[in-house]
Amino acid sequence: MIRINDIIDKISDYYPDADLDLIDRAYIYSARVHDGQVRLSGEPYLSHPLEVSGILADMRLDVVSVTAGLLHDVVEDTHATENDIKEMFGPEVAHIVSGVTKLSKLTFDSSQARQAESIRKMILAMADDIRVILIKLADRLHNMRTLSFQKPKKKIVIAQETIDIYSPIASRLGIFWIKKELEDIAFRYLQPDVYNKIIEMVDQDKLEHENYIDMVKDRIQRAMDENNIRCEVQGRYKNAYSIHQKMIKQSLAFEDVYDIIAFRIVLGNSIPQCYEALGIIHSMWKPIGKKIKDYIAVPKPNMYQALHTTVVGPSGERIEIQIRTEEMDKIAKSGIAAHWSYKEGKQVDEKANKTYAWIQNLVENQESFTDPKEFIENVRIDLFPDEVYVFTPNGEVKTVPKGATPVDFAYLIHTEVGNQCTGAKINGRMVPLQYQLKVGDSIEIITTKGHTPSKDWLNFVKTVKARSRIRQWIKSQEKERSLSLGREMCDKAFRKHRLNFSTLSKSEKMLEVTAHFGFKFFDDLIASVGYGKITPLQIVRRFEPKEEDEQTQDSFIGKIIGRVKKKHINKSGVTVKGIDDVLVRFGKCCQPVPGDSISGYITRGYGVTIHRSNCVNLLKITPDRQIEVEWEGHSKETYPVKIMIRSNDRRGLLADIAAAISKLDSNIIDLNTKTRESMAVESYFTLAVKNTEHLFAVLNALNKIKSVQEVKRLDVKMP
Ligand code: MN
Repeated sequence: MIRINDIIDKISDYYPDADLDLIDRAYIYSARVHDGQVRLSGEPYLSHPLEVSGILADMRLDVVSVTAGLLHDVVEDTHATENDIKEMFGPEVAHIVSGVTKLSKLTFDSSQARQAESIRKMILAMADDIRVILIKLADRLHNMRTLSFQKPKKKIVIAQETIDIYSPIASRLGIFWIKKELEDIAFRYLQPDVYNKIIEMVDQDKLEHENYIDMVKDRIQRAMDENNIRCEVQGRYKNAYSIHQKMIKQSLAFEDVYDIIAFRIVLGNSIPQCYEALGIIHSMWKPIGKKIKDYIAVPKPNMYQALHTTVVGPSGERIEIQIRTEEMDKIAKSGIAAHWSYKEGKQVDEKANKTYAWIQNLVENQESFTDPKEFIENVRIDLFPDEVYVFTPNGEVKTVPKGATPVDFAYLIHTEVGNQCTGAKINGRMVPLQYQLKVGDSIEIITTKGHTPSKDWLNFVKTVKARSRIRQWIKSQEKERSLSLGREMCDKAFRKHRLNFSTLSKSEKMLEVTAHFGFKFFDDLIASVGYGKITPLQIVRRFEPKEEDEQTQDSFIGKIIGRVKKKHINKSGVTVKGIDDVLVRFGKCCQPVPGDSISGYITRGYGVTIHRSNCVNLLKITPDRQIEVEWEGHSKETYPVKIMIRSNDRRGLLADIAAAISKLDSNIIDLNTKTRESMAVESYFTLAVKNTEHLFAVLNALNKIKSVQEVKRLDVKMP
């Protein structure tokens, strides 16, 4: 067990003017409040905060960090309060201890592995001081070192959490030595067999490996000496976990993993010499082109810098070599912590500034990153982004934008939850709906059946989803009102003309009238009466027999339009898998014809409706109501399909078109023409065709007509 004097020695080593009294007092206090508590290892509990502080001192962190390390568990595990800490050790230490305590209260289970990334971000966002994370990592490291004393089940849980959450955080912050140690210990517990096998295999040829390491080191060292480059050459085994990762990633057998040994050249502080050394290596051994990485010119987001190369070594094997300066070496080992640690004669604030300057620099140099996604991913975390991470009642992590409210959260869960939301509890306490969510909040939405959204919510919701859902609801309310108003108006107007609106509204004719006014659904037509866009009289007129009108409109069209039988409503030509004798209808939105790929969906009380497989309306239907359908093959039915013909206007054009259609044994069901500026005409025809082949033949024939510029079947319309 490390003693407090060892820690004090370490600190005075790198920071002679340190306020050692603070550390002393923290030690005495921690010993007093933890007194009587015992670790699973049987050691007094105090050994844990001591070890953690020792790790922090190894990272050359400031006095506040080391002090907070000694106190990191006292609020969580003893009668001490945050206020006690503040009074005795000042606000800075108290703030950090409270941050660590908050993180300790987060518990995750293995089912949350898939949200590991959210949890990592949450942890980073919760800690408003990077030292909180550094202490948490040191804490986790010591707990991993003593993992063998835990119960078997707990070992697995903790090891998995370490792999999922903590080693990636260490990696993000560039603290590779912690990352590696965490991974190796976790790996040992999670896959003991694989771990042991790798260790065994590494050991097997140890002597041979060591001779090899010495030989390569020696040759590099000599070459550098000859060129007057003073440096230290290191050769080391990669850790078991990274060897294993390499085996998985590249699906290699152990024998095929060449680079279980990596070499490193650490030289003074001259960057040009790094490149010089790289040149020397490449003149000795042939480099593998793709493997040269210049992280000096383009540092990694976690500020790692070095030159990497892989060369073909003396006996044809691959050798991985890293070249870096002493300063880069230090940062590579301790990452962001290096910027928080003491260097002689420098103040902490300056280092803090440097850290943030580094982040700033990253933002400014964004273009120089080869993989922008990776860059953004990393920096977003370091900048503590505009995102807030909160918990659902069953412990799932959700991300909401800063300023989001319980209403936003409710809509994030489900539209219905949002619509019926009447209140919210944060960490068990009721809050107003305008409450702004904070990182780590555990939130429960209270819903009341039949409750509806309020227009006022639009004043405070932050998310697009909530906003659009609330608007949608308001709009649907308005439509509801217009619909009943429209119905009333039509009913009156029809009665005046001795027509029965409710009978007629179910007629085929009404579907045609609906389409005539450019609507897909009858309800939309009636709602637009309610909105005042169409008068009831306009609709009534379509039902009054005014032969002269129809005739004068286009006298010969009337002759050619055949009466297309609507038989296919009963004899649809479609079979529904597993059901005979079912009412089949066709989607008006996409008008499928034989040959189209189709799907059906079961409507409530109206049988099965057939849509083209790419119809947007189909996409809105839940999959459990979809049903497989297919064309019967030799149906004699015809099907309506809408086409558009763009042409220049000329005399007799319509007659030519009608003749072409008729010649191919098709019929015009409906026709609608729009003249645009400069003689261009867009005509919309609804034709009766037998199948897609028939349709293509008609389209082809129409295309050949003089003045016709474009002919196409209308796509499935967006709603
Ligand atoms: Mn602890």
